[in-house]
Amino acid sequence: MSFQDKSLQCSDCGATFTFSAEEQDFYQSKGYTNEPKRCPECRQARKSERSGSSNYGSSRQMFPAVCAECGKDTQVPFQPRGDRPVYCSDCYRKVKPSR
Ligand SMILES: [Zn+2]
Ligand SMILES: [Zn+2]
Repeated sequence: MSFQDKSLQCSDCGATFTFSAEEQDFYQSKGYTNEPKRCPECRQARKSERSGSSNYGSSRQMFPAVCAECGKDTQVPFQPRGDRPVYCSDCYRKVKPSR
């Protein structure tokens, strides 16, 4: 099974970019069925915007919050809504009753 380079248009900046045979092979090996919608630059930009990490496993979005216990700036994996106290990881461990 061989792939051929494909020209795709970036949905962000409109630039034409190459979806190379190598990348197509990589995509298929990962089980991705979609073609990339964005050029490598826009993909890179979005990635670093979201998490600052290229590690797929840790790409969960984090929200800035202030710890209700110690007042420290922290990040939580959910959107703080203001009706519940948010704790930093240290205080969370203290506040949460241990099992
Ligand atoms: Zn682009
Ligand atoms: Zn705290």
